[in-house]
Amino acid sequence: MFFFFVGGLDQRVARVLQTGAGRCVRCGSLSDLVETEKVLKLFFVPVKTWPSKTGPSLSCTNCGLLFPPSLGSD
Ligand SMILES: [Zn+2]
Repeated sequence: MFFFFVGGLDQRVARVLQTGAGRCVRCGSLSDLVETEKVLKLFFVPVKTWPSKTGPSLSCTNCGLLFPPSLGSD
């Protein structure tokens, strides 16, 4: 029997801690310091979320890139 699995693990913004905290490493736009969470998706439906253990990340307000704050500081 063929089983077609569509799912995956996403990382998304859970909470904005500080707006305009850094610069995007890809496009140079202002990025927000955010708390992220991991989302397990099955057939594009989120079935489980839990806090990311990596700590705060920077999220670009222009292109949406998530990256570690160490990359966005001067
Ligand atoms: Zn960007």
